[in-house]
Amino acid sequence: MIDKSRRDLIAAGLTGAVALTLSGTGLAKAAAIANPSNKGKFAVPVPDVVSLPIEGTSSRFPVRRIYCVGRNYLAHVRELSNNEAEPPFFFQKQRDMIVQSGGKMRYPQLTENFHYETELVVALKSGGFDIPAARANDHIFGYAVGFDMTRRDRQSDMKKMQKPWEIGKSFEDSAPCGTITPASKTGFLDKGRIRLEVNGKTRQDSDIDHMIWDVPGIIAELSRQVELAAGDLIYTGTPEGVGPVVRGDHMVGTVEGLQPLLIDVA
Ligand code: MN
Repeated sequence: MIDKSRRDLIAAGLTGAVALTLSGTGLAKAAAIANPSNKGKFAVPVPDVVSLPIEGTSSRFPVRRIYCVGRNYLAHVRELSNNEAEPPFFFQKQRDMIVQSGGKMRYPQLTENFHYETELVVALKSGGFDIPAARANDHIFGYAVGFDMTRRDRQSDMKKMQKPWEIGKSFEDSAPCGTITPASKTGFLDKGRIRLEVNGKTRQDSDIDHMIWDVPGIIAELSRQVELAAGDLIYTGTPEGVGPVVRGDHMVGTVEGLQPLLIDVA
């Protein structure tokens, strides 16, 4: 049974690729609010531009889209009993789900098993379709530490029903992200220790060189599916050791060479 609004969309041809284009149009509108001549043009309050601090400058990084890689470290695929023969894949979060370092992350509703996943985040300065892996680093602005926070119980429900993960992955405060360090300072990252401490105890400890798809490979794969652009963030997957946090916990995520991500669970 298709509800009326869905039926109307289909009738108007506004599904699939066209719907993606529409979200791009929405973004153009959001960007346009910086222009004072647009004052009074919008019928409801305009959403804030979401941005992240950049190490070494007062300029900020404006966020366009957030992509995440699922199952990109073998030891994590195994700890959740997933099929290690299947390649990694992508899902999305929304930019207003970011919490910045030093901030409080609200414990979400609808879960009793709220999990951390500590990840290297790649920030793009440009994009396009069908970017060859050999050219992928040309599009990288910099890197940060991120947490792909997950309602693991709701994700498990959806996996059993073979439905999308949305309720498990995409919700308020589910995408904490630290200060971006420009690639001009770090070089292009292909190795380095990635760690999480919760209340001073080590919970995750691996190396980003254990990724199944490395960063250029991720950009190449993702740009076959969607058009990447400046402002996009890619959370590159978690190593093993995922587990729950509760209210009052203090989280410190690190990737060698980057600013730590400090988050309190409120
Ligand atoms: Mn993840």
